[in-house]
Amino acid sequence: MNNRLSKRLKNISYSQTLAMSKKARELKNKGYNVINLSLGEPDFHPPNFVLEEAKKAINEGYHYYTPVSGFIELREMICKKFYRDNGLTYHPSQIVVSTGAKQSIMNILLSLLNKNDEVIIPAPYWVSYYQMVKFCEANPVVIPTTMDTKFKINPQQLKKYITYKTKLFIFSTPCNPTGSVYSYQELNELAEIFKKNPKIIILSDEIYEHICYSEKHISIASFPDIYHQVITINGLSKSFSMTGWRIGYIGAPEWIAKSCDKIQGQITSCANSIAQRAAISALKVSSDKLGYMIQKFKKRRNLILNLIKEIPEFKVITPDGAFYLFPNVSSFFGTKYRDKIINNSEDLSNLLLHEAKVATVSGNAFGDKECLRISYASTESNIIEAFKRIKQVLGY
Ligand code: PMP
Ligand code: GLU
Repeated sequence: MNNRLSKRLKNISYSQTLAMSKKARELKNKGYNVINLSLGEPDFHPPNFVLEEAKKAINEGYHYYTPVSGFIELREMICKKFYRDNGLTYHPSQIVVSTGAKQSIMNILLSLLNKNDEVIIPAPYWVSYYQMVKFCEANPVVIPTTMDTKFKINPQQLKKYITYKTKLFIFSTPCNPTGSVYSYQELNELAEIFKKNPKIIILSDEIYEHICYSEKHISIASFPDIYHQVITINGLSKSFSMTGWRIGYIGAPEWIAKSCDKIQGQITSCANSIAQRAAISALKVSSDKLGYMIQKFKKRRNLILNLIKEIPEFKVITPDGAFYLFPNVSSFFGTKYRDKIINNSEDLSNLLLHEAKVATVSGNAFGDKECLRISYASTESNIIEAFKRIKQVLGY
């Protein structure tokens, strides 16, 4: 690595989700028929009325910089959405719209973290949390979990990891990569701990909120005693299948929203103006209009669960949300494929990519070496074909 690069940059790794997806694309470009189950990206089109609104915005001349935090009409709409879907009251001054939830999270971390601050992250976690914290020269403190608790933490665990250096806590519910969803009761118990530690700020990443299969999603900011400690993160990438439009947003205490506005003003100026106009119309609809996508994801989840059961070495829990399966694959470690030993989940993921032409992501990237992430945001026929190939390679 070039030693002129910053230490901060050298300290982090490439996004493994995007790296795997790049490998899959490269193989595809070489003419291989690759099934990409690596990326968390819905394969639907955004709703038509959203597309129409974007065209209208172009015709009406929304070609210019917007206010740094986003159009006031969009921030007002986000406040309505938070109230309607999550029971949360925010004022537009507490909302910042950014270039994807990824930028929303980075804005917050850059606003709040000093060198050596501690950030508690339950594992498995979404790839970028850990790396972004390191990029800010703070220390990620990981709470490991297992399948026995559906990869969720309890208040006793949380308590053990809090120190005087703890500044933030980051988690996602529904969770990427496990698909776990925290219940009201579970969140209430965690909220009690945070209440006793009022200096800790909670980043609640709710980007999969609508993709819930059993219980309704609950926002941790809805526990009134800790509302002022919580930053609620959301975006249009997953619920509206608008990954490339790059719209994310936060609801936060005003002082944090202001600091994110300050950073954003120096980095990107604002999120894309056309996508912001379209986002207003997207957020007008309540979640029942998205039912068709959720039903499809549920059908795919059930399908993939049935298919994976045919390979008993894959140990899985039933995910209650998002669109990932996160099986424990440690039974394969130490076994051989032809003359190659599978030592870890990275070896297995590479084997599946090169021999079955199915792209997945090793659990390492998500803080669990024994697991593998398989995205089922793909068509049923792709999922069926992928498992046919995986079974063949693994000798079933
Ligand atoms: N949080 C989680 C948990 C995610 O899975 C993603 C995936 N893209 C993001 C945040 C970032 O979303 P985006 O930047 O596309 O809004
Ligand atoms: N969030 C998606 C994933 O986990 C998209 C890729 C990324 O942003 O890391 O696959």
